[in-house]
Amino acid sequence: MSDIQLVDAPAGVEGQGFFATSLDKAIGLARANSLWPLPFATSCCGIEFMATMASHYDLARFGAERISFSPRQADLLMVMGTISKKMGPVLRQVYLQMAEPRWVMAVGACASSGGIFDTYSVLQGIDEVIPVDVYVPGCPPRPEAIIDGFMAIQKLVQTESSRRRNEPKYQELLAKYGIQ
Ligand code: SF4
Repeated sequence: MSDIQLVDAPAGVEGQGFFATSLDKAIGLARANSLWPLPFATSCCGIEFMATMASHYDLARFGAERISFSPRQADLLMVMGTISKKMGPVLRQVYLQMAEPRWVMAVGACASSGGIFDTYSVLQGIDEVIPVDVYVPGCPPRPEAIIDGFMAIQKLVQTESSRRRNEPKYQELLAKYGIQ
C-alpha cells in the first residue's frame, strides 16, 4: 500500500502550482524567441518585409530567421499587401492549416483595413476572414514598425502560448469566425 496521502491545498495557494506556472513561463519565453513566421505577401508591403529580414534590420536577432513557407511549420502568419476577396478563402485556408498555438499579424494599411483600395474586389481588412492579433499601420510600414509589431506578438506569445487554445475568450473569437 502506498504511503502517499493527498491533502487539500492550504488557504491562499489554490490554483496553478509553482511548477505549472514556471513551466508556462519557460515555454512562453522559448516560443516567443523562436517564432517561425509565414510571410503571406501579395504586394508592396512584402518588400518592406524583405528589408526587415535582411542584414540591416535583421529579424534574426529576435529568433525569427527561420521563415516557413509551409503553414504546418509556422506559428506566426504575417499578412502583407492587398488581399482581394477572391484571395480571402485561400488566406483562411492557410490559417486553418497552421497548428495551434498560432498568431496573426496584419502588416500595413491594406492588410489591416483595405488601405487605399476601398473597392468592390478588396477585403477591407483580413479580419473579415481570420482573427488578427496585431495590426501594424503604415503604407508601407517601415521595417522598424514591423519589428515593433513583431515585439508586440512576442509579448502575447510569452504570456499565452501554452494555454491559449483553452482560453474561453479565444474560443469565443474562433467561434465568431466559424472555426472549431
Ligand atoms: Fe502597398 Fe501601401 Fe498596401 Fe502596403 S499598405 S501593400 S505599401 S498600398
